[in-house]
This record gives sequence, C-alpha cells and structure tokens, in this order.
Amino acid sequence: MDFALWVYPWDLLDEGVHSVAEYCAENGIGELNLATNYHAVQSFLPHNPKRKTFFTQASSYFHPNKEDYGRLSPVPNEQMNGDDWLLQISNEIADTHLTLNSWTIGCHNSRLGMANPDLTLESPFGDSLLFGLCPSQPAVQKYLCSLVSDLSSRSSFKRIELETFDYFYGTGFGWHHDKYHLELGRLGEFLFGLCFCDKCCDNARKAGVDVDTARKSAQEGVTAIINGNLPSDTQPASWLRAHSSLEAYIEVRMKTLADLYNDIRSVLDSSIRLGRYVDFFDIEETWMQGVDLDILAEHLDYYTVIAYESNRQAAVERVQTTNRLTPDIPLHAGVLPGYPVIDSAEMVQDIVDGLANTGVEHISFYNYGLLPKQNLNLIGEATKSYR
Ligand SMILES: [Zn+2]
Repeated sequence: MDFALWVYPWDLLDEGVHSVAEYCAENGIGELNLATNYHAVQSFLPHNPKRKTFFTQASSYFHPNKEDYGRLSPVPNEQMNGDDWLLQISNEIADTHLTLNSWTIGCHNSRLGMANPDLTLESPFGDSLLFGLCPSQPAVQKYLCSLVSDLSSRSSFKRIELETFDYFYGTGFGWHHDKYHLELGRLGEFLFGLCFCDKCCDNARKAGVDVDTARKSAQEGVTAIINGNLPSDTQPASWLRAHSSLEAYIEVRMKTLADLYNDIRSVLDSSIRLGRYVDFFDIEETWMQGVDLDILAEHLDYYTVIAYESNRQAAVERVQTTNRLTPDIPLHAGVLPGYPVIDSAEMVQDIVDGLANTGVEHISFYNYGLLPKQNLNLIGEATKSYR
C-alpha cells in the first residue's frame, strides 16, 4: 500500500519542504499531491507558522510557457512575487524521500471565466456561469491540453491528477457569497448549470439532437421547481427519461469529453501516470459532469475515488460502485481524516483497512495544511501496519 498527501504550495514553503518531508517520513507518506493550478480559495490553516489563511483568485503556482497556450493561459499567483513555487518545491523535494504529483484543476477557474465570459458554461437561460470554463470550447480544450503538457515538461512528476476537467455543476461549489433562497435540489442545480454555449449546441446539432427542444426542457425543469410545480427532490435520471431531446443532448457531452481526454493523453509523456478524481458527488451521477467513467478510463491510468466518509462501509461502497461502473481500471482512494467526517484514530484505521481489503493499493489523505496537527497524527496510526 502506498500513501500520499494533498498539499498546498504555500503550506510547504511556509513550513519548509524538509520539515514537511520529515512528518511524511514518520507517518508513512511517500508522495505529495501538490496543487499546481488551483481554483479561487480561502483556506483556513490551523498550523501554518506564517499565516492563518491564504485567500486568492484562481492561479497557477508556476510561470507557464505562454507561447504554448492559445487564448487562455494560467495566471501565476501574485503572492509568489515573481518566484516560481513549483520550481522551488521541485528542487527542494529532490533531496527528500518524497515523490511529487501534480494536483491539477481544469475548468473551475473564475479568474479566467470572468476575463473570458464567452468561454464559460452558459446556463439554459443564457447566463454566463463565470466559475467554470466550458470544455466544449476549442480554446478551453487547447488550454487544458497545454496545461497538462506544460506541467509534464517542467517537473519530474510521477502522476498528474485531474480535477474538474469536465462540465462541472450548476452551483460551482460557491465562491462569491452565493445566495440561494429556494431549494433547487439536485435536478434544479444540474439543469441550471447545464451548458448551452454555442459549441455545446453545435456539437449536439451535428449529432442530430433537437437542441431547441432540449434547451426548452431544461428551462421548463428549472422553472417548474422555482414555481413549486416540481418537487426539488425529483431524481434527475428519472426526470430526464421523459425528456428525450435533453437526454440525447447530455449524451453528446460525454463523447466530447472522451475526445478531449484522448487529446490530453496524447500530449503526455508515457512515463507519467494520469489520474482523475471521482467524484465529489454521487459516483452514479458523474454523467451530470459529462463523464462516462468507463469511456474515460480508456485514457487514464487510474481513478482516485474520493471517499470522504465517516465509516468504513460508506467508503468501501464508493470504491465498489466505481469498480462496478468501470471494472478494468485501478482505483486509488482519497480519505479525509478530519472535520467534518472523522474524529478518531479508530475511524481512520477502519476506513484504511476497509479500502485495503477492497483492493485499493494507493490512498491519498486530504490535506496537510487544512488539518490540525492532532488529525495529522491520526494518519501515522492508520498507515503503521502497511509500512
Ligand atoms: Zn458549453
């Protein structure tokens, strides 16, 4: 069993790479999943020696090779003051036992979205959803491929792990003091965030889909929930079965995303393992982000199943569900050994044991800078018997 730890560059540099490496050596951690290109965030940092929070727009923590990109390229974080944190960290990690992986955010980028509203997701009502870039847009596809290619050339990553390289989800996780004073529910949020940009519509038309009817269905679904004529807890999949044009429209996105992953794979050095996180919502509902797990698996080396659960059975079930949907790809797992799901060493141990018994051979823990020291100590207890 291998163990990794998600980490932010500011936490590594504020504490010192060697100090964090020491913690990892003592607790059975051999790999770091380092945020290299990341969404807007305010992180609360319980044990960072230099600050209690890091607040930023979506940023890269390296200086991109601008000529390799098209219209969109990552914006280096201003707080680096011209330094290149990825370069600094890569250099310092070379002297430690640790292996570096890139934790890479794709379409969730409100900074690029606000600067390029025509490349963002567009709601069925025509609103630009600035928190998310639409992966049907050629300029966004170019950006995503260039990002992976650029990262693979600038550091000796063992793995590049992808997050939100997809159509994302209606509410965008919230970042802008969001206000919702009615319950849209899973269906309403999904339909509100379903992209009807020019490229999504073109792709669907070319595939023979009646786009006008599809858009009208999406609008009517949201409106019915707003007006109280459709319960907000309506199951999305069953509702869609009665709206065949919209169902067909959603199918087309899965093919678009599969083609994009094929392109991403083709720019990546074969020595680097390519992974994707699955999923921050229900595993069986990845289609809401345009993801067919089994089709995308052809272009990936593994999935990391996000299993931020408070008991063994729930964590194991997420892995088993993923395995049922895509049986031929190795599955890693992500565990959150802290608030709000876990508060004891026994719980972490039980979940790690359960995942190991299910055949998981690689677990990542979330996240070095966000967890208090007492929670970081739980990791060592859980990894002890696997070292
Ligand atoms: Zn779109």
